[in-house]
Amino acid sequence: MDRSSLSVSRDLVSILGEKGERIVLSSRQTLPQTPSDDDSAALQLQLTLDRIEAALGRLDAGEYGLCLSCGGQIGYVRLDQDPSRALCGRCAAR
Ligand SMILES: [Zn+2]
Repeated sequence: MDRSSLSVSRDLVSILGEKGERIVLSSRQTLPQTPSDDDSAALQLQLTLDRIEAALGRLDAGEYGLCLSCGGQIGYVRLDQDPSRALCGRCAAR
C-alpha cells in the first residue's frame, strides 16, 4: 500500500462521513495481519475504494441510488447497509 491510496481513503471517509468510514474500517478489520498476505489485503482495500469511487461518480452524475442493471431505485435499507451498492435487491439476487 502506498501513501496516495491512504490519502484517498481518508478523503473518501470525509466525503461519505460515518458510513464511508464504516466501510473502510470493516474492510481493514478483515485484512490479514501476516506480511505474506499484504497483496490480498491491498487488493481488498483497492476493491473497496473502487466501489466507493464508483458510487461518488454516480453521485456526481445524479444517478446515485439507481440500480445499474434495471435503473430502478435501490432501497434505502440496502444503501444504509452499504452506501456503495450499485444494484437493487432484485438484481443483486439474480
Ligand atoms: Zn435492479
